[in-house]
Amino acid sequence: MGKAVRVVAADRGPMIGAVGPVLSAWIARLHERSGVVVDSGLTIDSVEEGPTGATVRTSDGNVHEVDVAVVGVGVTRALEWIEKSGLATDNGLLCDVDGRSSDPDVFGAGDIVCRHSPSGREEIQHWTAAMDSSMRVAHALMDLAPPPPELSAYFWSDQHGCRLQFTGSAGMGSTIAVVHGDLDAYEFAAEVVTDGVVTGAFASNSPKQFMRSLQRLHQQQRDAASVSSSESERPVV
Ligand SMILES: Cc1cc2nc3c(=O)[nH]c(=O)nc-3n(C[C@H](O)[C@H](O)[C@H](O)COP(=O)(O)OP(=O)(O)OC[C@H]3O[C@@H](n4cnc5c(N)ncnc54)[C@H](O)[C@@H]3O)c2cc1C
Repeated sequence: MGKAVRVVAADRGPMIGAVGPVLSAWIARLHERSGVVVDSGLTIDSVEEGPTGATVRTSDGNVHEVDVAVVGVGVTRALEWIEKSGLATDNGLLCDVDGRSSDPDVFGAGDIVCRHSPSGREEIQHWTAAMDSSMRVAHALMDLAPPPPELSAYFWSDQHGCRLQFTGSAGMGSTIAVVHGDLDAYEFAAEVVTDGVVTGAFASNSPKQFMRSLQRLHQQQRDAASVSSSESERPVV
């Protein structure tokens, strides 16, 4: 649209909490390639409305005259009404992997849920997770066997002509191994490696290669689950 755009964010890089530092740096380059200036690690000190726009002061002391200021600072779940009803909460409606709350007759699905699974506390707020969790709830309500394990924290996002896909997790010390394509060509698939273990997969405009990495991750999860269940079946001596 020919407008200059500047993104100011408190995090050390775009989406860094979800995708880790290496891919976050790549996403910053993706924005910059399209002419978007990314100012990471800064906060907004003030916004003053003027006759034709606004004056924005950032924590580095700079002043920006803008036509439009878009504020996107995230959301927090409104839990007071749930807490009043006596249901257990923990930064969300506390549910097990099948969406059962602390009251066996009340189920939760989607963004409101903070799920407790064997791997710990999970707050996953994505479209796919919302759909998957509602399917699990439907199975539990109908007393049917639970569907197969869902994609772990899967999301996609369309940015500057790239379909970005991510699943799994990426710690702050994570690195990536490119399994297809080229980062500079903006078409690639990579596996995220944390402490020597593949913990996630990311792709830009490479859905087939992403699916392959995803299948490997699922197999890894299944193998880990079967090892832990066979260990728990061992008699205690
Ligand atoms: C700006 C933005 C961008 C996003 N981009 C992505 C993305 O690129 N990829 C991705 O995977 N996810 C994305 N998400 C997250 C995704 O939208 C959510 O994870 C998903 O919509 C959750 O679905 P849900 O059904 O749990 O909640 P919602 O979609 O929020 O639906 C809840 C509904 O309940 C209604 N409601 C609330 N209170 C009441 C009430 N008291 N009575 C009746 N109705 C009520 C609301 O009006 C709403 O319609 C984005 C979210 C936002 C806000």
